[in-house]
Amino acid sequence: MKNKERAITVRAARQLALAAALACACAARAEIGVAFPAERQRLPAVEETYVIGATAPGRTEFLYVNGVTTDVYRTGAFLAMVPVKPGTNTLTVFQGKDKLVRTFVVAEAPAQAAKKPDPIESDDDPRIGKQSAWQTTGTLFTNRVRAEIDDGDTIFYLPKGFVLRGAEVKDTQWLAVWLEGRRGYLSRNLARRCPDRQVPSKMTPAPDPAIGFPDKPPYGRRPETVRICVDPGHGGSDTGALSPHGWFEKDVNLMQARAIRAALEKAGFQVVMTRDDDSFPALYDRPKKAYDGRMDAFISVHHNATAANRNPRIARHTTAYASTSNGLALAQCIQRHIAPTLAPVKDAGAQMRSFAVCRNPAVPSCLLEVDFINLPEGEAESWDQARQAKVATAVVMGVLDWMSPPEKAEGGDNTK
Ligand SMILES: [Zn+2]
Repeated sequence: MKNKERAITVRAARQLALAAALACACAARAEIGVAFPAERQRLPAVEETYVIGATAPGRTEFLYVNGVTTDVYRTGAFLAMVPVKPGTNTLTVFQGKDKLVRTFVVAEAPAQAAKKPDPIESDDDPRIGKQSAWQTTGTLFTNRVRAEIDDGDTIFYLPKGFVLRGAEVKDTQWLAVWLEGRRGYLSRNLARRCPDRQVPSKMTPAPDPAIGFPDKPPYGRRPETVRICVDPGHGGSDTGALSPHGWFEKDVNLMQARAIRAALEKAGFQVVMTRDDDSFPALYDRPKKAYDGRMDAFISVHHNATAANRNPRIARHTTAYASTSNGLALAQCIQRHIAPTLAPVKDAGAQMRSFAVCRNPAVPSCLLEVDFINLPEGEAESWDQARQAKVATAVVMGVLDWMSPPEKAEGGDNTK
């Protein structure tokens, strides 16, 4: 019995050793990796694409991407731009005896974009259906009333269960709704018709989602009393952007966010994270956490990548986005400190753009695109813990600036 067991064990060990040897041989041969485009990946209708990948660092042979010599960064990462044509394309990467071949598909030229419907000029427009009572079913962060059909500015935020006057707009997925005498548009799938309810007036007051929140930054308050929500972007199956080594944005976002938390806490702030592992909090649960927790600020941490046909070495920049004016003040203060930390990475300043996590109507919110990770230098620097600590310090300095009371205006009414 014992001998038989030993024989099985020995055979198993031999098999394992053989498998390990094969794995090693394979690993040695597959030294070139290409992160993008992936095998059989479908790209939009582009005329060129970037190719990013990595080989073993320190190799001295030239690396060729579709026949063109390509610089290899000290980490082994490389970036090349290659022309492509519609249909199936072949990519060939050579270095010494190593060769990698893959195919990917580029779409034909895109179809013409659908024409937008003409704007509705009056409440009597024949496209507006019968007016009745509607009740919202989404959350405060999804129930956004827009100024126009398809992507207008947000004019009102509605809590779940709010009842207002509405009417379906023919041939669209939108409801016309009326609040405070103004017509706006709510996505049809965020409300249900209430046929038995009295139809609310067009003058129904809009709820104010910022009631109970301070209308100014926490001027002059001690950090110990200030609560900041830090949001590492993406997570779980939502990996975000991809780097030459095939590393995910979600992971570097978490590393950078943890560094920011550490620096903020060292400065005395209270910090809450939307995630502290590889989970994916739903997009609108992130601003909701800051809103429900009556936080003083919300900072979302991301890293950028270019579209397939843009060279990330040329596009590389650092920026902070906001979607509200109070968020923009925060974004500007933080960006002023991050930009010099990352120089010579181009400073694109703070910018307004509509992002789900930044549209918080009550908590000043911003989204940092710290750097581009789809180029070798951006990858190496973004994953560098010393750089992450510098960015974290810059964020703290920015938040402190944002909290410092504005100087009294000269010649103002301050002589009394
Ligand atoms: Zn991102």
